[in-house]
Amino acid sequence: MRQHLVMGNWKLNGTKASVEALIKGLTPAAAAHPSVQVAVCPPVIFLGLVEQLTAGSKIAYGAQNADVHESGAFTGENAPSMLKAFGCTYSLVGHSERRTLHAETDDVVAAKYEAIQKGGLIPVLCIGETLAQFEAGTTNSVVETQLKAVIDRCGIASFENAVVAYEPVWAIGTGKTATPEIAQAVHAHIRQYLAGFDAAVAAKVQILYGGSVTGATAADLFGQPDIDGGLVGGASLKVDDFSQIIAGAAK
Ligand code: PEP
Repeated sequence: MRQHLVMGNWKLNGTKASVEALIKGLTPAAAAHPSVQVAVCPPVIFLGLVEQLTAGSKIAYGAQNADVHESGAFTGENAPSMLKAFGCTYSLVGHSERRTLHAETDDVVAAKYEAIQKGGLIPVLCIGETLAQFEAGTTNSVVETQLKAVIDRCGIASFENAVVAYEPVWAIGTGKTATPEIAQAVHAHIRQYLAGFDAAVAAKVQILYGGSVTGATAADLFGQPDIDGGLVGGASLKVDDFSQIIAGAAK
């Protein structure tokens, strides 16, 4: 039985004060729903603060990005082992903003996924199609290609220790949530595709939906059989909205 996981992606947002208010505000909501795993991905500069603020709570946390290298002349980067040392459980990898704004290819994403696992973290592999690809009806083949790059490099068994996040690019930050039916169909396809390599791994892996999830849409989305929770951007920055989303995952 897969647990629901709700993960906030704070992106490049927050101040020391807002981070404190957000974690303090979310702690009771997370505690009120023991069946739901809750995690946040703050900007890396706030990891030490989040480590302190989440002590004793069930809120896990992760990074939004990690480098493939462990050390060296890579200005501005953070190694997975450094993130682990600050208590991270997860790291996002392959978010569409990194694929687009930082030119991260499927090969780069696969290398980062491998480095994140080697560093002792759980990669949250973000995949999804653009609006043009959605309109062209190529969603399934797009997500297959994105998954295959990781399977080729790391093997299907690596998904025993990974999370997949299906995030249609046209739904991220646009207010256009995929309908539960559309999202469920893609999630089922992702699981079926993984099952072609290993049915037991596919049955166990958590597949999150991301793209303009709100308190109003969470319960219907997470009620679908192959949607195991959500990766949430904008709404994860507001205590009330994210608390409602956590509650939606408990239903
Ligand atoms: C995201 O960036 O992962 C995301 C899902 O953002 P939003 O919820 O704001 O669409």
